[in-house]
Amino acid sequence: MVKIKDEVFKKYLKKLVGDDGLEIIESMPEKEFTDMMIVEKSGYNLNLVRKVLSILYENNIARYRRVRDKESNWLSYYWRIDTENIQRNLKDELSRLYRILSERLEFEENNVFFVCSSKIPCGRYTFDFASDHHFMCPVCRSDLKAEDNTDIIKKLKKRLDEIEKLKII
Ligand SMILES: [Zn+2]
Repeated sequence: MVKIKDEVFKKYLKKLVGDDGLEIIESMPEKEFTDMMIVEKSGYNLNLVRKVLSILYENNIARYRRVRDKESNWLSYYWRIDTENIQRNLKDELSRLYRILSERLEFEENNVFFVCSSKIPCGRYTFDFASDHHFMCPVCRSDLKAEDNTDIIKKLKKRLDEIEKLKII
């Protein structure tokens, strides 16, 4: 049976296929199988099993081999789960996220921001933009006030830290 022990991988798969999907994956054997075998094993219906398999296939986590029966001309699909690709996909996704968050952190640290002072602020602007507009909101003409982005920086650092702690990337 495919056993997803690592909580990080579980979370990643859950995001792809949901709770039921994860149960379906865990009922899959490590060797080849057909969708009907999984229906019997997991108790979930064929449509859902096929949906999960197609999502896994799109994400390179499952692959199949097609065999045509010579007499009935019927096609059978033999599936197999590629657990190594789960790790590779997750690593790619986390690296991408890490890069985006780092760039955002750098931007936050290197800029001073101004926000529109109306009740529902129209926007958030950099110092250069705000000064070009004489510190007046370009949408509603309210004053722009300087914003303390310490919390945003703190949150970004925390998320980057969490990714580093996973030791996957
Ligand atoms: Zn405004």
